[in-house]
Amino acid sequence: MLEGIKIEVYKANQELAKNGLVTLRWGNISAKDENTGYIVIKPRRTASALLRPDDLIVCDMDGKILEGTHAPTSDLFTHLEIYKAFPQVMSVAHTHSKWATVFAQAGKSIPNLGTAHADYFKYDIPVTRTMRPEEIAKDYEKNTGRIIADAFTLKDPMTTPAVLVKSHGPFVWGQSIHETVDNAVALEYVAEMAFYTLRLNTDTDMNTYLIEKHVQRKQGGRNEQ
Ligand SMILES: [Zn+2]
Repeated sequence: MLEGIKIEVYKANQELAKNGLVTLRWGNISAKDENTGYIVIKPRRTASALLRPDDLIVCDMDGKILEGTHAPTSDLFTHLEIYKAFPQVMSVAHTHSKWATVFAQAGKSIPNLGTAHADYFKYDIPVTRTMRPEEIAKDYEKNTGRIIADAFTLKDPMTTPAVLVKSHGPFVWGQSIHETVDNAVALEYVAEMAFYTLRLNTDTDMNTYLIEKHVQRKQGGRNEQ
């Protein structure tokens, strides 16, 4: 079932690892099939290097397993909440990529300080609120997805397709698997640059007209420089 998407998700998992975004087993990517609405996702406790396309899980939007012999990643229910909250999203990735996680652990959003950021993310990358004890005790992964959705109540999630879960790490998404991998790579790159930029000048900011210009250019064709 969904063999084509399985191959793509398999390759995307390798891409995340190849780009240094996934260390050990800290990462996963999923995709939604536009015809059935089913989700293809990585199994639990599998390093990307050991993964095969046949290992991938197919489930429905309620998390019911339709195909696969392994248990799905424990982050499945976070992915599902993101798909439910943001219907345009066709793929979701979660990593503990170092620089984005530095901001997540600090509880700080990643400010939009330059055109590299604006080419991929219109706004600062938001950080989620602190989870309440009862949200951690029960349905932790599902509640993680819910606080991600809460962070976007005033913003279009497709113009800024990434979030930092406080004290945890980033989730990114896109309208395709390829776009999601690109967004994960871009997020890590702009996080590192923002860290060093703020060390040189804590007062710096970016002209909003320049942000708009780059957001519009992205809509006209991604990766124009
Ligand atoms: Zn995680």
